[in-house]
Amino acid sequence: MTPPRRSRGPVNEPASVPFFSQAASFEEQWPEIFRHVSEVFDSGQFSNGGKVAEFEDAMCAYTGARHAIGVSNATDALTLLLRGSGIGPGDDVVVPAFTFVASGTSVVLAGARPVFADIDPVSYALDPDSFERAITPATRAVMPVHLFSQMADMDALGKIADRHGITVLEDSAEAIGMRWNGVHAGLLGAGGVLSFFPAKTLGALGDGGMLLTDDDELAERLRALRNHGRSGTPGTETGRDPLTVGGNSKMDDIQASVLLAKLAGLDGDIARRAELAERFTEGLTGVPGILALPTIVRADSSNPVYYVYLIEVERRDELVAYLAARGIGTETYYPTPLHLQPCFASLGHRPGDFPVAEAASARTLGLPFYPDLVPSAVDRTCAAIREFLEGDR
Ligand SMILES: *Cc1c(COP(=O)(O)O)cnc(C)c1O
Repeated sequence: MTPPRRSRGPVNEPASVPFFSQAASFEEQWPEIFRHVSEVFDSGQFSNGGKVAEFEDAMCAYTGARHAIGVSNATDALTLLLRGSGIGPGDDVVVPAFTFVASGTSVVLAGARPVFADIDPVSYALDPDSFERAITPATRAVMPVHLFSQMADMDALGKIADRHGITVLEDSAEAIGMRWNGVHAGLLGAGGVLSFFPAKTLGALGDGGMLLTDDDELAERLRALRNHGRSGTPGTETGRDPLTVGGNSKMDDIQASVLLAKLAGLDGDIARRAELAERFTEGLTGVPGILALPTIVRADSSNPVYYVYLIEVERRDELVAYLAARGIGTETYYPTPLHLQPCFASLGHRPGDFPVAEAASARTLGLPFYPDLVPSAVDRTCAAIREFLEGDR
């Protein structure tokens, strides 16, 4: 079966550069996706079934994890990881103030309290000194977040966590393919997560997520928590009475099919992303008004994987509008730091509490960035940015 013939969409058209598209690669991957999906129909298992198990095995091989547990999305994965690690009411979890909102909300959903800390201005990840200052007598866990292209300083954070007896739980949702001294993100502490949201480095055609851990007992609890508290292997557990209260965070087998097909091309996609990043950097180096381009720190410990190409720029919001008027899509990651978000108002923070996070939120901009992006679209985007920033000098 062939997919309905699609136009290549706007990607190759000079007139517009969408922020994200995977239309062209979908067409290429369709035969392999269809092969997996056919097996799902033949098996009759559509949720947490055989295809999910096959994808989990493939992800154990890719990451080196003892356990890779497929779930519905990374937000659920974080909440389950916290619950499975025994974090709940009365416990504090240190979370960077500059991250996707789910890093903080997952802590609340697990019943615990997020305690925010500031970030490093270059890697945008949790700053070790700020982490140490944020520790309270109730701190049970710390959640380093690996953003955009590189990991947090896991040596420094791990040392502080060890000294205080604090569990390290990684929000590695963006970090597939990133490794710290060869250890895949998510496996430096007790466990971590991956997101397969479509725009992520390995994206599904809908939502998906994963838990990674080397801990057998934690893995057993996580498998139960994703499936109504039931333990046992998929397909055999329905008759058992659950020991714990769990929700429904199962991965579906159609998304596992898509992900299995795309996993085969993941390293190629990562290499393509590196080429695109280099082209952006060449096109934007030396442009007045650009305050920062991606800079990899601790490159001896950590390999970069470009999930987002993020710049810091003057008059960011005006530039967003200027690019939008020229058909170029962008995203601001992240427009409001967590400590100033209304959903965390009860924690009583005010502007100025985490200055590095606040400065990042005011200046950062994600440019169009995905394997389907053609080099001419990168050049067009760079030219438009130069035009805007050089225009009135
Ligand atoms: C994408 C993302 C999440 C949430 O992932 P979902 O699968 O969309 O729930 C969590 N944390 C970070 C840092 C992310 O980038």
